[in-house]
This record gives sequence, structure tokens and C-alpha cells, in this order.
Amino acid sequence: MPDNEVYITRSPQETFLRGADVGRSARPGDIYALEGDLGAGKTVFTQGIAEGLGIKDPVNSPTFTILQVYEGGRLPLYHFDAYRLEDPEELAETGYEEYFYGEGVTVIEWASRVEECLPPDCVHITINRDDSSGDSTRLITFSDSRKVKTEDP
Ligand code: ADP
Ligand code: MG
Repeated sequence: MPDNEVYITRSPQETFLRGADVGRSARPGDIYALEGDLGAGKTVFTQGIAEGLGIKDPVNSPTFTILQVYEGGRLPLYHFDAYRLEDPEELAETGYEEYFYGEGVTVIEWASRVEECLPPDCVHITINRDDSSGDSTRLITFSDSRKVKTEDP
């Protein structure tokens, strides 16, 4: 079983800061596969990752592009958003393997839509609303398959 960690955030700022923690500790080749409904906070979290990497450019949802590359931080950030992906061929056209297996940090929103392309050792992060605790509460669940590998070689 993956080793799950769950965090509760109560504002976009808290989600951003949680992302920034991830960005600060990210290593070359890390892949963060984000899940969660529209408006869950995947982009806010990604903006935090960018901040943690020291990227100054504004990060937003790439509306018409599947991939946005941000340089200028400690490591490059490859921000994929598979929301509008209609055909797996569109992902192939980005040359995604060069990024997934490269030296930067990959973040993929709507990662389940490209599940068959994900390497086994990515970090899955799911952001859920928690309706019982108010509009601004989110549960952020990390399941880090890299930890599993070290425990179970
Ligand atoms: P997604 O990329 O998952 O579709 P966004 O990050 O673009 O979602 O948007 C999240 C929205 O939810 C923003 O409008 C943000 O202000 C709001 N929000 C409210 N509470 C939170 C929270 N705890 N964490 C993240 N976003 C929140
Ligand atoms: Mg988004």
C-alpha cells in the first residue's frame, strides 16, 4: 500500500504554501500527478510549487496548451494540464517523455487522463473539497510511491 499523508488546508494561501514546501524539496525528475475536480485547487498548488522552486513568472492554467515550461527557478517546471486533452496523441505531440524523464520537475493536472503514460514512481496528490467543513477547506492526500519502493525493494 502506498504511504499516504493527508493535509487539511483552509484557504487558497494554505494550499499554496503546501505546494511551496513541495517545490522547495523537489528533486530533478520528480513527477507530481495531481487529481481533483475543477476548482479543487490543483493550479493554486502548482503555483505554490513554482514559488518553492524560485520561479518568478506567473503560473496559470494553460487554457489552450497542454504544456507550459517555466525556467528561471532552481529547476525547470513542466506544467501539464490534461483537462482538455481529447486524444492521447495530443500528449505525444508535446514530446512529454523528454519532460517526464528529464531533469526538471513535472506537475500534471488531471493526471488520470494520461495515466497510461505515467511512470510508476510519480507522487500522486489528490485535492478534495470537504463539504462538511466549509467552502474553503481542502483535503490534500499524498501517496508517494517512491517511499514504497525503498520499503519494498
Ligand atoms: P483547479 O486547478 O483544481 O481546477 P484552481 O486552483 O484553479 O482549481 O482553483 C481553486 C479555487 O478554489 C480558487 O478560486 C481558490 O481561490 C479556491 N479555494 C478556496 N479554498 C481553497 C483551498 N483551501 N485551497 C485551494 N483553493 C481554494
Ligand atoms: Mg487548474
